[in-house]
Amino acid sequence: MSRAEADTGGHLFYQSRNPRPFLDRGEGIYLYDESGKRYIDGCSGAMVSNIGHSNPRVLAKMKAQMDRATFGYRLHFRTHPSEDLAAKTVSLCPEGLDRVFFVSGGSEAVESAVKLARQYALTQGLGSRYKVISRFPSYHGCTFGALDLTGYDPLREPFAPMMEGMPKITAPMTYLDRDNLTEEARGLKYAELLRDRIEEEGPENVLAFLMEPIGGASTGALVAPDSYYTRIREICDEYGVLLIFDEVMSGAGRTGKFLASEHFGVVPDIVVLSKGFGAGYAPLGAIVAPSRLVEPVLDAGGFLHGFTYAGNPLACAAGLAVLEELEEQGLIENAARMGDLLKAKLTGLMDRYPFIGHVRGKGLLLAFELVSDRETMRPLPRELNAYNRLVEIAYELGLIIYSRRTRGGYEGDHFLVCPPLIVTEAQVDEIIGLLDTALARFAT
Ligand code: PMP
Repeated sequence: MSRAEADTGGHLFYQSRNPRPFLDRGEGIYLYDESGKRYIDGCSGAMVSNIGHSNPRVLAKMKAQMDRATFGYRLHFRTHPSEDLAAKTVSLCPEGLDRVFFVSGGSEAVESAVKLARQYALTQGLGSRYKVISRFPSYHGCTFGALDLTGYDPLREPFAPMMEGMPKITAPMTYLDRDNLTEEARGLKYAELLRDRIEEEGPENVLAFLMEPIGGASTGALVAPDSYYTRIREICDEYGVLLIFDEVMSGAGRTGKFLASEHFGVVPDIVVLSKGFGAGYAPLGAIVAPSRLVEPVLDAGGFLHGFTYAGNPLACAAGLAVLEELEEQGLIENAARMGDLLKAKLTGLMDRYPFIGHVRGKGLLLAFELVSDRETMRPLPRELNAYNRLVEIAYELGLIIYSRRTRGGYEGDHFLVCPPLIVTEAQVDEIIGLLDTALARFAT
């Protein structure tokens, strides 16, 4: 019995028993298991390891911080890593987003954004506003608050009676629409669903609208038409609803800009970051908001929220080194360039594999979707288990990709191909070569 098999009966459990081999080490875009087999980390873990594995600069800065202090409670001391990381984050965000609150992950960050919005509303005498509208499908995390905002029924169902049941609107799936509208008109059509929902819920009750500017695991890198984003911003302004962008997956440079929302020229009221922000070196997340939201909350007695590990100096030292690396190595620009190349090559695979129905995304937040036929975009039969099978074939070949079969309202097998932002042209070719072999095996 191999060690991996022996340990599937061990004490640890995740979603299921874990038959994967033991991880030995990582280097750049590669991971190695204990047998020495090499894998391309073609989805940066779960769109996390943006600057690759074992980056020497980040490790050196973390070690230096470790030698000084690994923890100092934020109410007892200020620390340079957390102050410096906040300043660096602000410098990378659009003007006006100038205040930062640190947490240790994406779900915590989403909930922090919502709690800041609520406490701000209270300072403005808007206590009736508590509903947060989000989208379907979407993913915002698995703690109760974040799960309530998540538009993915299978994850919500067991806990539904224990949640408020926050309102949702349909996210654009314009590539599935069979109408004669222009892309711009479709974007507006979907954005207007927000207005309908605000009216339905009563504008006086609606606190915020939360969305992923580019859906990650929920939609497989789906980008809405530009008109969608600008109209959403207008509707939020019209109704005094705060716009929160969950950029846990799309932020920190992954799409070729620091924030994905920069592609659309829309600035949210609060932005949520995690994943690539700590890039796998530390559990780290943040919300970034303007002083006009934060100051009234501080004036009213402080932000009633916080986590023990928030802003700890070791995590912040790692985050700061990650952002410095992004800037100094030009990795955001590289994400834009390599993203275009990888997307073109993924699109090229459509010539050979008619069951690839759609390739989408921006920068290195890319995905392809498998379908029964491109004309109708009908999904592959569920029994085929495509989302699992293709991932397993690729894994055998030494390429790790990330897949989802989205269910409930919208159904399809999509695969995220999101390597670290340090990926080179030769490595893009390597990824495409392995994917080509995997797709050929899948087809037989
Ligand atoms: N928001 C988005 C868009 C995400 O992709 C995720 C994680 N997949 C989360 C929130 C939750 O992050 P975490 O798992 O770190 O709590």
